[in-house]
Amino acid sequence: MEISVTLGPRGRQPRPADSELGFGNYFTDHMFLMDYTPERTWHDARIVPYGPLALDPAALVLHYNQEVFEGTKAYLQPDGGIALFRPYSNIERMNRSLARMVMPQLNAEDFLHAMKELVRTDRSCFPTSPGTALYLRPTTIATEASIMVRASKNYLFFIIISPVGAYFKEGLRATRIYVSDEYVRSAKGVAGSTKTSGNYGPTLMVAQDAMAKGYAQVLWLDAMEHRYVEEVGQSNIFFLFDDELVTPPLTGTILPGVTRDSVIQLARHWGIKVAERPVAIDEVVEGCASGRLKEAFAAGTAAVISPIGGLGYKGHDNTVGNGATGPLASRFYEEITGIQTGRREDPFGWRIKIA
Ligand SMILES: *Cc1c(COP(=O)(O)O)cnc(C)c1O
Repeated sequence: MEISVTLGPRGRQPRPADSELGFGNYFTDHMFLMDYTPERTWHDARIVPYGPLALDPAALVLHYNQEVFEGTKAYLQPDGGIALFRPYSNIERMNRSLARMVMPQLNAEDFLHAMKELVRTDRSCFPTSPGTALYLRPTTIATEASIMVRASKNYLFFIIISPVGAYFKEGLRATRIYVSDEYVRSAKGVAGSTKTSGNYGPTLMVAQDAMAKGYAQVLWLDAMEHRYVEEVGQSNIFFLFDDELVTPPLTGTILPGVTRDSVIQLARHWGIKVAERPVAIDEVVEGCASGRLKEAFAAGTAAVISPIGGLGYKGHDNTVGNGATGPLASRFYEEITGIQTGRREDPFGWRIKIA
């Protein structure tokens, strides 16, 4: 795949100090675009200055959410190079999401090439403080002008990059999360395992209500019985019951996280018992009371590992362990971020050097 490159002025995008970056608020100088039509399939791969897209107001994506996205990070390495973390996992997941949304899939090598070239083009936008990274957001949208409820003929694939700050500025901090026993994010047969925008809009109100009550995130339960734990916010969830690490199984309602898979592989590598099995919220609440639940944490690309210190459920607050960050959560955080940033051995070949 040939990529045409049109460079714009450098440093035109607003950009604060690394400590003020936060997550997803700023963007680099360029973006990657590629079009799809049934006649020409994917074509016109190009890197252009970052800026607004021109879309027909009838574009199908704006009406029926025919959209798929991904999220992955590029990390500065000790030798000044750049590495992506398990990009093929994101590429494969994007193609599964595209298939679910009847959208055209992408060639894996072209996709990786596009990410590489865009990161290289904007490497001067790399933040340098510890814990920072470039967050890549590959996205495909339905562009055909039609308000018939049907699949689009035409699509746009784009990649934008956001320089992101350190998620935890003063080390891992445990948060309190709110268990929603009223609202759900997915159900069997819907598209919970797909990274498609339609899954996220309806969660905003629930997250806002939880934050107004003083919680950091929502813990989602299953749609059938409101009994089994699914995910927390936009992350997967892990529990340490005695000496066994437990996470809900991938049965179609849960997003198959790359971080989730990394935690499972590392745990097995370290000889820790791991089970993918249903976890009832009652077991979690009982585990808090009895002390059987030693730790709980969320796993996702944005924060990598986010310890859970307590859960609000049916008007009661339950404390996990002593309410602070546990040693296993810290161990996963140190190991995974160490592999990502080239400070630790990479026995799994997860780091892909791109510059
Ligand atoms: C992206 C996402 C995750 C985490 O996936 P990672 O690949 O680890 O970033 C988990 N749950 C939801 C709903 C997500 O959108």
